[in-house]
Amino acid sequence: MKSAPFLGLAEALERVRGTPSKKEKVAVVSSYLRGLGPVDATVAARIASGRASERGSKDEAQVGYSTLLDVLREVTGASEGDVSKSYLKHGDLGEVAEELLADKKAQTLFAEELTLGDLDEAFARLRSAKGHGSASAKKGTVKSLLLAATPLEGKYLVKALTGEMRTGLVTGLLEEAIAAAYGLSKEEAARAHMVLGDIGAFAGRAAAGTAASVRIQPFRPVNFMLAEPFATAHEISERFGRTVYAEYKYDGVRAQVHRSGGDVRVYSRRLEEITSSFPEIVASFRGAPGDFILDGEAVPFAGGRPLPFQLLQRRLRRMEDFEEAAKKAPVTYFAFDILFREGEETVSLPLSERRRLLREVVAGTPARLAESSDVRSEEEVQAAFRRSRELGYEGLVVKDPAGPYAMGKRGGGWAKLKEELDTLDVVIVAAEYGHGKRAGVISDYTFAVRDGGELKTVGKAYSGLTDKEIDEMTRRLKEITVKDFGYRRQVRPEIVVEVAFDSVQRSGRHDSGYALRFPRIKRIRTDKGPSDIDGIGEVERIFSGQKLKVDEA
Ligand code: ATP
Repeated sequence: MKSAPFLGLAEALERVRGTPSKKEKVAVVSSYLRGLGPVDATVAARIASGRASERGSKDEAQVGYSTLLDVLREVTGASEGDVSKSYLKHGDLGEVAEELLADKKAQTLFAEELTLGDLDEAFARLRSAKGHGSASAKKGTVKSLLLAATPLEGKYLVKALTGEMRTGLVTGLLEEAIAAAYGLSKEEAARAHMVLGDIGAFAGRAAAGTAASVRIQPFRPVNFMLAEPFATAHEISERFGRTVYAEYKYDGVRAQVHRSGGDVRVYSRRLEEITSSFPEIVASFRGAPGDFILDGEAVPFAGGRPLPFQLLQRRLRRMEDFEEAAKKAPVTYFAFDILFREGEETVSLPLSERRRLLREVVAGTPARLAESSDVRSEEEVQAAFRRSRELGYEGLVVKDPAGPYAMGKRGGGWAKLKEELDTLDVVIVAAEYGHGKRAGVISDYTFAVRDGGELKTVGKAYSGLTDKEIDEMTRRLKEITVKDFGYRRQVRPEIVVEVAFDSVQRSGRHDSGYALRFPRIKRIRTDKGPSDIDGIGEVERIFSGQKLKVDEA
């Protein structure tokens, strides 16, 4: 089957971008997808979501701003001045490409029409370009695409390569459009998408008519189940109203361990493969029985006690020799769930049943089962919480023994009770150089929470990081600067930090309408991306919770 023209997708995306109506966005995309076969649907859905490669793929096809700008200048004959004028006007590299290509001097006559298949091949070339000579190979690939592209195609090509679509077609809407295009129910679509973990793979299966039979498989990580936060033991015992498991909340790195055919791989909460960072986990399960997928926490642990979580930070950023790291701060894997066992999904079984299977797998390995006690009353929850804090853990995760493993959902049977101080996961959107001892490094960070599709600032943190971490931050912030105002920089929202704070106040200083009081950075959350940060709802919840406490006092 001949691959469909890319222009059709670019036109559909332009229409999506042009309408504020979610319903219409879905209608445009679904009617466009309906005409595509599985292979084209895979590529089209991926591009529409702003990706040029499969989610979770180790190699990225994304191309840096400077390469794209170089190529755009070469292809269009534009000067540096033209480019920066256009960028200041649009603030979006895709739109810059569209404008410059529209008045490009060297129009390519007789250019072949670009197809989705051409893009797919080009993206594969970008992914495989590595090592010496890769920069020029990448440039060549992008150049040949842009030479053949119409202005509209250039716009969406650049958007896909930078990952900045800005069409308002959030993942949920795209999933809905795929479901509508190929006649799937909402539930079927959500499940297939989650298990496949990639919108392109999901669209491909939907187009082929096989989405309903998608099953969990080793080496294809699935979204983690998450816990709903609770403020007190009282609320937790009220929420469940029956005997539940209270497990220690281990402070480490969430990790999914897959084993099949004797091979062991480890995946992060962002579904990235992190096998090489955790040689101990691989060793732990090498001799384990059969095939399985486990959920658990990798915890630096020695002498029967947890070590500070910070000891894992450098490992996660792949900044040290892992074998060496494993000696200094050895990791123990605390397993708390099982998603797959010997060819079968286990996610629908009740937790009590899954625990039994988990125990069999973990027995005889150096890994451990997360410690759990049965609790019911508020006092029992409180006592378990205190015990956990005394042992150096972060709190409790309380679980319903009858509940399934709700992939990618927060609060489907799991509740967490943490230390006294509230924390939020936020993303850094701007940063400033420090003063005095911190002159010359970027040490003041303005951060934001989610509000629907937007980011709203809630505060500014000055402290919490070590000098080494600040140096590393400075380097990364420079890399992701969008606008440089000298002492202040606006940055791409990519770095997620967990901030602890004393309270929330109403404030006109930040566009969320709230400000965190005395925020300090607890840790850099390399395991989270901007889509995992907290929303304004969580800020409001903390704000109204503390008002209650003040009123009661
Ligand atoms: P947090 O910032 O509190 O770690 P989170 O957003 O990363 O939260 P949640 O699901 O809300 O994730 O909280 C539970 C987290 O606690 C898990 O992500 C996991 O990393 C960790 N954890 C530690 N011990 C357990 C346990 N026994 N069961 C489940 N999760 C646990």
